[in-house]
Amino acid sequence: MPRPFFLVLTRRWIWAGVVFLAGLVVLAIYGSFPLAVFTLNALPSEILYDVMLDPGHGGIDPGGIGRDEIYEKHFTLDISLRMQSILENAGLKVGLTRDSDRDVSHLVKDGTRHRRDLLGRFKLMNQARVGMSIHTNAARSSTERGAIVFYMKGSYIDQIYAHLTFDELERVQEMNHDRIIPRDTLLLLKAKPPVLLVEIGFITNEEDLQKLLDERFRENVAQALSRAILKFLTWWEGEQSEA
Ligand SMILES: [Zn+2]
Repeated sequence: MPRPFFLVLTRRWIWAGVVFLAGLVVLAIYGSFPLAVFTLNALPSEILYDVMLDPGHGGIDPGGIGRDEIYEKHFTLDISLRMQSILENAGLKVGLTRDSDRDVSHLVKDGTRHRRDLLGRFKLMNQARVGMSIHTNAARSSTERGAIVFYMKGSYIDQIYAHLTFDELERVQEMNHDRIIPRDTLLLLKAKPPVLLVEIGFITNEEDLQKLLDERFRENVAQALSRAILKFLTWWEGEQSEA
């Protein structure tokens, strides 16, 4: 008995729907950060630097904006450049994801500017033994202030690195939390080397902003963060030679 016409049609439509949805899933995965991260981390990467410093934002992306159009991107670059010279003087090979007021989106071909910028920084992180991304924070509440150290949730090595950094930073800046903060949602922390994301202070808090505008404070922060990186590398080398 021939099948009723409407049943055949329905079946076709169901198949068409399945194929369409599968296509959407494939597209979503292809465009997603997890796949890009997996691919970048699966590729062998040449280690060209001891440290990769990542001054947050840059170019078209100002980052956090304080009063009188004060931009986060300038503070992050200034502190990173200071760290570069301190760490180079200590004998390390230092890379920067950017050394001028620009973004890093030119390193990756596909996707939105934001996506290309983030993955560009990620790619560069994988060329170093250790990385640090430098930021300043912004909040709705102007009373929120102090520094924060984010590290990759569940990573023992990164946790040690974060502790050392917290202890050094605490000597020169008030901390927003009394502990280091684990995160598994910050893309850069998923790079192959241990990477921290450090928020130096809140650009939206007058006290923090005054500090950030003070060159001596920025130099002290750069010194503290550089000391932490040096301490961490020394500790890590010790661990690796014992293993
Ligand atoms: Zn930022």
